[in-house]
Amino acid sequence: MEGSKYCQPESGCASCGACCGMYNWVGYSRGMVEEVLEIQTGQFLRSDRTERDLRRLKKVISENRPAPLYPVIYNCEFLGFIGNGNKRVGCLLHPGLNGGNNLRGISDHGRETCDESRCTACIYLSGAEAGLVAETTDDWYLYGLCLTDLDLTREFFRIASERVSATVSAEQVGAGPELKDIFRRYLLLKEQWPFAEKGNRFGKYYFQDGKYLIHRIDYQGLSAPESGYDRILNSLGSEFRSKAELGEAEERLDRIFEEFSRSLPG
Ligand code: SF4
Ligand code: SF4
Repeated sequence: MEGSKYCQPESGCASCGACCGMYNWVGYSRGMVEEVLEIQTGQFLRSDRTERDLRRLKKVISENRPAPLYPVIYNCEFLGFIGNGNKRVGCLLHPGLNGGNNLRGISDHGRETCDESRCTACIYLSGAEAGLVAETTDDWYLYGLCLTDLDLTREFFRIASERVSATVSAEQVGAGPELKDIFRRYLLLKEQWPFAEKGNRFGKYYFQDGKYLIHRIDYQGLSAPESGYDRILNSLGSEFRSKAELGEAEERLDRIFEEFSRSLPG
């Protein structure tokens, strides 16, 4: 967790703390996460960083935070803003911030897990795909949301390729300013999607009775056929009240993919 170039891309504001519980709050939003991270960062910077003080801090912080979305996932008390004028998120216990001392043993994950674990994005997304997500989001909040949602990125390339009957690659998108801008607007939907259920969803997952489950859109209940955008709609946390809403959502995605197809050099 928190160490590879996927976690901390070299430049800009893209940075991730998703596996440290960054979004794991009921009704999470940019404002809520920012407040939690600001408090955690402030407390940490005021501490003397001895084990005793860090343990005290851990207790104080964990007792005064919003309700976790999925309590089985650890919301680390030491995730915070680590630089670039509070525009990057990361591990406050990282040796690079503590004169070479690795303080991560204090976290519930433990030092080894924090130092070595890699999420599915690190395994399954190519360097070019992750780099494109970093460059186009360039943001501490949106990057982790998009990076860790494999369906969101993969479906974009699958559908775009299908539309033009040719393989569309991350490298190709990265090389074209217009294509990059369309991809950026697509990723922005992850935060601004009007059909998203905000309280209890994390992408396609929802949480009930201490379990996480995969959400399925009830097409039958909406009297509609399954959407060609089904995976994207679930990634965006969609919950539709009517067939008309579903249609509106599909039209928004149609417009993005149509514009993208038109912008691809022939
Ligand atoms: S979720 Fe993945 S990319 Fe993000 S900090 Fe964890 S290991 Fe790194
Ligand atoms: S101590 Fe571990 S879990 Fe906590 S922020 Fe650092 S890497 Fe994440």
